[in-house]
Amino acid sequence: SFESIMEFSQFKTNEQELIPVIVQHYKTQEVLMLAYMNEEAFNQTIKTGRMTYYSRSRQSLWVKGETSGHFQYVKSLTIDCDLDTLLAKVDQVGAACHTGNPTCFFQPLAGTDYDENNPLKIFESVYNTILDRKENPKEGSYTNYLFDKGIDKILKKVGEEATEVVIAAKNPNPEEVKYELSDFLYHAMVLMVEKGISWEDIIRELADR
Ligand code: AMP
Ligand code: ZN
Ligand code: ZN
Ligand code: ZN
Repeated sequence: SFESIMEFSQFKTNEQELIPVIVQHYKTQEVLMLAYMNEEAFNQTIKTGRMTYYSRSRQSLWVKGETSGHFQYVKSLTIDCDLDTLLAKVDQVGAACHTGNPTCFFQPLAGTDYDENNPLKIFESVYNTILDRKENPKEGSYTNYLFDKGIDKILKKVGEEATEVVIAAKNPNPEEVKYELSDFLYHAMVLMVEKGISWEDIIRELADR
């Protein structure tokens, strides 16, 4: 259990006496979700070490993970400059989002979403999008077309794209190889999702060699 330096009554709450909480993964700093706390939720979070919110849709106290098992263990709580927003760093069990996504923020709206400090994150980002398509099929999605056709279709595409990489490599212009390798990697990730293999699994396997 934790001790808070401030009481909930000192925070600047909204009209419903709630305070928004930005939730971040304590290790990766990934932004996981945003939710609200009332006084009871705040006090219970401090007392139990489990993130507890106020569900505005259900109008009741909500222990994150109470039905999914995807609990959030508090590592730290920080209040912002004008006392109207909390930042929580948590140890997240499973996925933060009820859709099964690791984070609630997986729907790009504008601009390109990749971490310039870590370009390899794009693999994780594309992987998460493919996973989301599998779990929440989208009308007209090519990825869903592949999942619907099944493993044989996916394997056929992986084989085709691998062959296209080989053919493109004969061309002195490396642009072609770039396109074909990208096609190949995307289809390989569809296969990974289909087989339940994560980038984490691949990275561990490579590191162990
Ligand atoms: P959980 O707290 O993970 O057991 O989920 C219980 C319910 O809370 C879900 O069915 C959703 O309605 C809702 N929920 C869970 N996680 C989120 C989230 N990250 N954002 C919004 N609603 C959520
Ligand atoms: Zn400020
Ligand atoms: Zn503020
Ligand atoms: Zn969500």
